[in-house]
Amino acid sequence: MLLCYICSFSQQFTLSKCIDAVMVLGNSHLLMNRTNKLAVIASHTQESRFLYPGKRWAAADPFGEGGPSMESNCSGSKDGKYELLTAINDAIAEEVKDLMTKTDMKGQQTETLLAGSLAKALCYINKMGKDLKANQEIKSRILVIKAAEDSALQYMNFMNVIFAAQKQSILIDACVLDSDSGLLQQACDITGGIYLKVPHMPSLLQYLLWVFLPDQEQRSQLVLPPPVHVDYRAACFCHRNLIEIGYVCSVCLSIFCNFSPICSTCETAFKISLPPVMKAKKKKLKVAA
Ligand SMILES: [Zn+2]
Ligand SMILES: [Zn+2]
Repeated sequence: MLLCYICSFSQQFTLSKCIDAVMVLGNSHLLMNRTNKLAVIASHTQESRFLYPGKRWAAADPFGEGGPSMESNCSGSKDGKYELLTAINDAIAEEVKDLMTKTDMKGQQTETLLAGSLAKALCYINKMGKDLKANQEIKSRILVIKAAEDSALQYMNFMNVIFAAQKQSILIDACVLDSDSGLLQQACDITGGIYLKVPHMPSLLQYLLWVFLPDQEQRSQLVLPPPVHVDYRAACFCHRNLIEIGYVCSVCLSIFCNFSPICSTCETAFKISLPPVMKAKKKKLKVAA
């Protein structure tokens, strides 16, 4: 099993508190079963990055033969905590620090590269699945923790990723910290995951542990938050606006908010039936006169 967390920042609830909660959830997940695996991906405005296992871990191979390996920058366990968890938490904190200092924020942009991060998560899951032996199988899920705004620009990429996840039977859960996300509601509904908008931010950790830590089988025995009403509006391909009623190309299924005689995606020219009908009527009228 594998979990990916995609995190962004919110204004009142600080990023460090959020990261702390995510680390506790990640550690709990690893402690639930010794075969559990974890990956953490940060989705920022200009970059999506593996926080764990990061570049530093690739060489060290913490799950290799020798057990958790101690990197030079890892201080080890001070409080009797399992060393691997300390090492993971340190690595995540380091990567977040590095990401935040190296990214220069332009204006009030709060859209993150969520579709790309999800694609990265799917690739990672696929890679983990390939490494397994013939009789083993991997049950994976992705948890998105999101504080950023939805990006209608990424609608196409996002939906493609969601359908890829659905095909691979990978659950997508969403824990939304700020405003509701129509895209994630669809993602959870399509893949069978849980969508939750955290009603009380200081209790984020409780929500993470109670709602998102249990796996699919355990969830059937729990009384979880009721499913939300899903905003199934699609974004038009011309302006990326969310629309309820629009025009769909009969050839490539592209969605448009305005009628256009030529599909801008597949360049199909549509026969417009209106003018010929008008002409025919006029001719008839003349005959009658
Ligand atoms: Zn449009
Ligand atoms: Zn078309």
